[in-house]
Amino acid sequence: MAVAAELASAVDIAANLARVRAEIAAAARAAGRAPETVTLVAVSKTQPAEAARGALAAGQRVFGENRVQEAEAKYPALKAECPDLQLHLIGSLQSNKARAAVALFDVIETVDRPKLARKLAAEMAALNRWPRLFIEVNAGGEAQKGGVLPAEADALVALCREELKLPLDGLMCIPPLDQEPSPHFALLAKIARRNGLAKLSMGMSADYPVAVALGATHVRVGTAIFGPRRAPL
Ligand SMILES: *Cc1c(COP(=O)(O)O)cnc(C)c1O
Repeated sequence: MAVAAELASAVDIAANLARVRAEIAAAARAAGRAPETVTLVAVSKTQPAEAARGALAAGQRVFGENRVQEAEAKYPALKAECPDLQLHLIGSLQSNKARAAVALFDVIETVDRPKLARKLAAEMAALNRWPRLFIEVNAGGEAQKGGVLPAEADALVALCREELKLPLDGLMCIPPLDQEPSPHFALLAKIARRNGLAKLSMGMSADYPVAVALGATHVRVGTAIFGPRRAPL
C-alpha cells in the first residue's frame, strides 16, 4: 500500500475539520440546537502525532484515542505543547490499564462494567485525578462487543453515581456496523434521559449528522478528518 500517498497533509486536515465543523453546525441548527452544544472529538488512532498537530494548528482541541498505550506514546508531548488539549478514551479499557488511563485521559467514555467502575474509583482516589466519565452502552446488544447491555445500564449508572460518587457525565455507543444507526442513537438518548444524564457521545464519520439530529453532544470523527487509518501503532 502506498502509505505516503495517503498521508493527510496539514492543509487537508484543516479543510476536513472545517467541513466537519460546518456539517455539525448545519445538523445542529436543523435540529433547533446551538452548534456549540456539540463537541467534535477528533479521533487520531493509528495516525502519527504530526496529524494531531495539524488539527491542533487548525484550532481543534478535543481528541480521541482508543488504546491507552498508543495514546501514551503520542499525547504527553502534545499536551505539553498545548495545555488545553482534552483527550478522550473511546476504546475498551482493561482493568489493569485503569491507572494509566486515569493518569492520561481527561474523559473516559468506555465505562461498561461494575468491576471497571470500582477500579476507576480506586485509581482516581489514589491519583487524586478525576477524569469525567461516560458509560458505554452496547445499544445493539451485540455479542463480543464492549458496553453494558441496555437492560443493565440503569443499574451501572446508579452504581457509578450513588455508590462510587464518580463524575459521570453521559452515555456513549457504537451502533452495529451493518444497521441503520438511528434506532440505536434514539435508544441511547432515551436511557440518558430517564437517568438524568446530559451528555451523549454518538456518531462517527459515516453518521455524525444523524447523531446530532438525535441529540449527540459529542461526535467522534476520525477518517473524515485524518483520512484512512494506518496499521495500528
Ligand atoms: C475509530 C473510532 C471512531 C472514529 O471512526 P471514524 O469512522 O473513522 O470516524 C469513533 N468511535 C470509536 C469508538 C472508534 O473506535
